[in-house]
Order: sequence, then C-alpha cells, then structure tokens
Amino acid sequence: MKSAETSPWDIPVQFLKGVGDKLGKIFAKEDIKSLWDLLLFLPRSYEDRRKLANFADIQKAGLSGESVMGLGVIERYERRPGMGGRKWLEAWCSVRELDDTGHALSSGPDYVKLVWFHDPGGMTQKRFPAGSGVIFRGKVQNFRAQFQIVHPELKKSDGPLATWEFGGWVPVYREISGLSTRVTRRILALALERDEVKKIPEALPPDLLRRLNLPSIYESLNEIHFPRTWEPNPQHEYQPEGAHLARLAFEELFMMALTMQMRKNSWNSRENRNSLKLPKINFDESLLAEKSKDLPFQLTDDQKNALKDVAADFAFKKIDAPMHRLIQGDVGSGKTIVAFLAALAAMKNDYQAAMMAPTEILADQHFSNFQKLFPEEAKHCYLLKGALTAKTKKTVRELLAKGEVRFIIGTQALLTESTMFNRLGLVIIDEQHRFGVEQRLGLSKNSEELSPHLLVMTATPIPRSLALTVYGDLDLTVIRQKPIGRQPIETYLIKDRAQAKLRERIKEFTDEGRQVYLVYPLVEESEESDLKDVTSAFQEWDQFLGKDKAALLHGRMKSAEKDRVFQDFRSGKTRVLITTTVIEVGVDVPNASVIVIQHAERFGLSQLHQLRGRVGRGSVKSLCILVGPNSPGPMVLERLEVMVQSEDGFRIAEKDLEIRGPGEFLGRRQSGMPGFRVAHILRDAQHLELARQEAERILAVDPKLETSQNRELKEMVERWWAGRLELTLSG
Ligand code: ADP
Ligand code: MG
Repeated sequence: MKSAETSPWDIPVQFLKGVGDKLGKIFAKEDIKSLWDLLLFLPRSYEDRRKLANFADIQKAGLSGESVMGLGVIERYERRPGMGGRKWLEAWCSVRELDDTGHALSSGPDYVKLVWFHDPGGMTQKRFPAGSGVIFRGKVQNFRAQFQIVHPELKKSDGPLATWEFGGWVPVYREISGLSTRVTRRILALALERDEVKKIPEALPPDLLRRLNLPSIYESLNEIHFPRTWEPNPQHEYQPEGAHLARLAFEELFMMALTMQMRKNSWNSRENRNSLKLPKINFDESLLAEKSKDLPFQLTDDQKNALKDVAADFAFKKIDAPMHRLIQGDVGSGKTIVAFLAALAAMKNDYQAAMMAPTEILADQHFSNFQKLFPEEAKHCYLLKGALTAKTKKTVRELLAKGEVRFIIGTQALLTESTMFNRLGLVIIDEQHRFGVEQRLGLSKNSEELSPHLLVMTATPIPRSLALTVYGDLDLTVIRQKPIGRQPIETYLIKDRAQAKLRERIKEFTDEGRQVYLVYPLVEESEESDLKDVTSAFQEWDQFLGKDKAALLHGRMKSAEKDRVFQDFRSGKTRVLITTTVIEVGVDVPNASVIVIQHAERFGLSQLHQLRGRVGRGSVKSLCILVGPNSPGPMVLERLEVMVQSEDGFRIAEKDLEIRGPGEFLGRRQSGMPGFRVAHILRDAQHLELARQEAERILAVDPKLETSQNRELKEMVERWWAGRLELTLSG
C-alpha cells in the first residue's frame, strides 16, 4: 500500500498552493474537495495564446486592420474631451516581448494606444492602475500615424510570465463566483506541478491503454488543462474529438462498468450468500393462467415476456442465484400488474413478498388495486407506511414476523430495523430511480435465512446500452408496448394569458364527465415568487366550479387527509384534483383524461413526461395542456415543443439530456448513481459499450481484481464508489 498522503484523492484542495481556506470553501461548494476533484474540473474552452505580437506585428496589423494579442505595461492614462462634453479615456501601453524563458523584455519605446469611449465608473483605471502589466487584444487601427485599439480586451498579467499564462493554449474555466478563471488557471498549473500528480497512479491496465490507444492519466490531465500536443478548437465548448478527454470519460465509464459487474458477480456467487438459502418459486404457465383469468384486461405480449423472464429467474434457469431484475417501461406501460403476478407466485409458493413504493399515495394505490384485482389473496396483504398509528404498525410488523402477512405493500417504513420477515422470498421496488442503491439492498437484508429475489421497476427511459452499464448489476427486461386500445395523448401549449378561456374549457370537460388534474408548481403563496400556488388556486376553482367538484392535494397535507382526497378522486366523487408534483410518479386513475400543467416552463422535460403519463390510461382520448409564459424565450419554447411533438419517453429523455446535461439526469439524488464529472452519457455513448466489454474482459480473468497488476484499478474502483455503495470486493 502507498502511504495515504501521496495520492491526489487524499490531498484536500485547501492545502494546495494558491488556495487556502477561503477559496477552499468556494471550491467545496462546487463539490471540489480534493486535488483529484480539482484535476477533474475541466476547462470550458481554451484561448489561443501561442503567439504574442511584437511591435512590428502590431504595425502590420494596423495597416491591414487585423486583430492582435500582445503584452504590455500601462504607462499612464489620459482623459480627452469628447463629443457632448463627455470625456474618453486613453492609455499609453508600452509593448513588450517575451524572451525564451517566458520573461517579458522591453522592446523599446514602442507604444500602442488603448482607447475607451465609455468607461463606466472609471473601472478601467481601478482594475488596471498605471504600471500594470496587461495582455491586450483587439483590432488595431492606424489613427493619425498612431496605432490604437478601441475598447481592447484586457487582462492582468503581473509578475514573470509563466507558461500557464502564455506560450500556448490556455484554459478558460467556468466562472465560479469569487474565483476568476485566471486564479483557477494558476491553481491548476501549480497543482499539475506537484509530485503526486506527476506520479499519479495509472488505474487503467497497460495493455488496455495500448489496445485502445489511450494516453496516460498524467498526460491526459496535463494536456486537457494546458494543451501542448494538440490544438483545441476555440469555438467548441467541449472537444469531443480530443483523445485526452476521451481517456478521462472512458475511465469514468469503465469504473462504473466494473463496479456494476462486480456487484452482479458477487450477488451471483454462492460464497457470498454464505448459508443463505434460495427461494425457489414455481411460476408456471398454469399458475399464470389461473391468476390472470379474472383480470379486466388481457396482458400484452411484453408483459407476458417480462413474466417469463421472472419465472425463469425464480426457477434458477440461468444461474444459481436470486433474481436481480430491472423492468424498464415507459409511464403507463403496465408494470404494476407484472409485479403483482410475481408476488402472487411467491405467495403461492409459501414465501412472503414485499413491495416498496416511493410515496404513500402510491403505496395506497397499489394496496387498493391489489385488493380489487385479487380479493382472495388480499386477505393476506397488508399496508405499512409511516402515517399509520404506532399501534397499527406494530401489529402489522408482528404479523409480518409471524408470517401471517404474506404480501406487504409499503413505503420506506419497510426499511426500518424493526421490520422483520419470516420467509421473505421476493422484494419489489417500484420507481427504483427514486431510491438510492443502498435502500434497494436494505430491504433484502431483513430476511435472516433467505436471500430473496429482487425485482425493480423504473420508468426512467434510458437507452438499452446505457441501462446495461448504469444498471449493469441487474438483468434487464424492457416493456415497450403500451396496452392495446390506448390513444395518443394530445398535447397543447398555451399562453398564460389564456387562463380565462382555459377555465371555461375545464368546466366543459367536467360537465362532460371527465376528470381533470390541475398541476401547480407551489404549495402556498410565496413572497419570493409570483408563481401560482395550489392553495389559492384551489379557492378560485372551488368557487368557479361549485361545491365539491374540486379537491386540493399536496405533499404537506396530513396523511389521512391525503388518503381521503385521493380516494374521492379515484372513485370519481371529485372531478378535479388541484395538486402539485405529489402525483408525479405512479398515480393511476384511468378515468382522468385531462391534465393541465401550470408554469410548465418550471418543470424538467422528464418530469413533464411523467406528469403527462397520469392521463392516457383509459380508452378515452386524453389531453395535456401545458401553460407556458406569455413570451417564452427560445430555450423554453424549444423544450416545451418537444413535449408537444413527442410522446416517446426515450426521445424526450434524450432531449432533456441535451438541454440539461447528464449530471442531473442520472444525478445522485434521483437515481442513486453518482454524477459523472467528465463523461457525458450521450456524447460518450460509444465509450459506454466499450467500457462494458473491457470490464467484462478484465473480470473474466481477475474477477475480484486481486492480482497485483490490477491493484491500482481496484483502488480506483473502491474510491470511486466509496461511501455511495456497499462494495463487497473481498467477497
Ligand atoms: P406503470 O407502468 O406506469 O406503472 P401501471 O402499472 O400503473 O403503469 O398501469 C397503467 C394502467 O394500465 C393501469 O390502470 C392498469 O390497470 C392498466 N393496464 C395494465 N396492463 C394493461 C393491459 N394489458 N391492458 C389494459 N390495461 C392495462
Ligand atoms: Mg408505476
């Protein structure tokens, strides 16, 4: 083992030269805490500073009217009377040249004049007092035999000129408040000089580097910050073609692929389960036929295929390990019934099943649907959620421990220590992206003697190749088809000023017997924002529509109240639900066929897609009305147009990614996956598949990365996921 303080991961950023406590705090806000984090704070673009113009160059440019960049010292300022009584500002700037060592030489008394017709607040002189060394840039004019630049771009350049400032392409970083790009540049230049960076351990195995023709980690970091051997395109924010960026992106994806596959392998390996038994669940065709004969609909082929996959896992057809399967299917594709049927199979085989949903509303809904669909088995099905009385919870837990509860549906309340199972054979997690990976595991741990099957469901629409890596620890089943008879949802974008007309339409809809969701971004009126809030909206609608037509539902209401309101809406007693994003995931009221989303511009595309998915669940043609601003900017319009034009979750997610970047999409908060620093899921899609293949290749030879040549790699993998995932690398 190396000593701890020698690796860039262990060096706090505030200990670096030029940083200190104050900047350290600023960096910390950006999630830059160690030297390594800093090294991965990549430039946004580059500036060409390879060549400084000397005086002869400036003269030439002055005659042809070209732009130059040069180095100089502001010797003195003068104010000159201009038109209309205003004064303009002139600076006499003596032109310098660099010597071979990068130090500035005087090239004689050659001046270029810098001119400002406007100089608000006298800022120029404050920022660049006489005597300042500067880099100037701009178009040279030859004015009355004097070379001048009007409104030059000016930057400070004091002290000896270092290579981090000159003589090449220099990085431009995203401005962080309190930290200029020049300061960041200097900090990075100094950081790259450190021994720990020069000797930074190479995580990727040498043969892989060779085969894929990837540069070393040190070279990549160095070159990405200070290009020496390649030429950035200053027009591009990112350099998709750059080998160094590719290497860093590949490394991230490779770490993820390795981790996921190692997790999968460790689940699948017998030794890891110790003495745990496997729940063998017999789920044959006849059982499926029996259980689905009373359903009010025919299963789609995709649903049947998903059940076949589950049945094969239950029977250990492929591998002697419990199921770890992800069912991915767009909103409304009918994932719940697949989960229910799997649970029935577990129950029939004398095992317990547990289903965890991210919200109480969803848990309630699953519970009442199960009762409706399977009244016989529902006798052994219970609900467990935080809002129940302590006494009820205790009773349910006792029944669960005794094995009298056969199917438990609940929220995170299922995860508490006091929840003990008797024969837990199947864990189902709905809307898996809402939970962290740790939680996904937490539930399975409760059973003492059995290693239960795991079925997770998500509507997060990510392309298959991506899902295979991101959820590489799970087997994947995709439900593509929507149930037969569904009609496309018509989506309209209207302006805020059309509210009055909208109100009339809503009234017509309810008179026709339709049910409507009206979604608002805020719960209560707020002084800081002029967004519409659901509470005052409810009062208006209640008056407008008449008594008991509308109901209010939001996350801050008491649980029992929420329950009641939602039940009334489900049963059709109330026609209009004035609500917030509490209904975003999973809510299923087939008779609701209109959804209006106020301030649609405030929601992410995937969120809008989820919200819209609340309608279009029955056979009636549904309608989604997005209320946008009166004069939307081009970005907002582009986003909302995507919704109008597409109902395809994959396409919308892709657009969302393009507009928002992947960090949020697969952000830690949403998916339990750590955000990437370098890799861009779409841009680097070609690396993703490669990363997965290469990970498989390495693990085939060294499944736990135990050999000495993979030591750095293993450390990197561990570090990568440290604190986020439970890794059982040692078995
Ligand atoms: P999601 O995949 O978003 O979780 P749900 O499981 O909530 O979707 O199903 C959406 C609606 O479609 C529910 O009302 C459900 O009863 C209904 N449904 C599910 N499967 C079918 C089917 N094969 N045919 C018709 N309706 C179905
Ligand atoms: Mg669902």
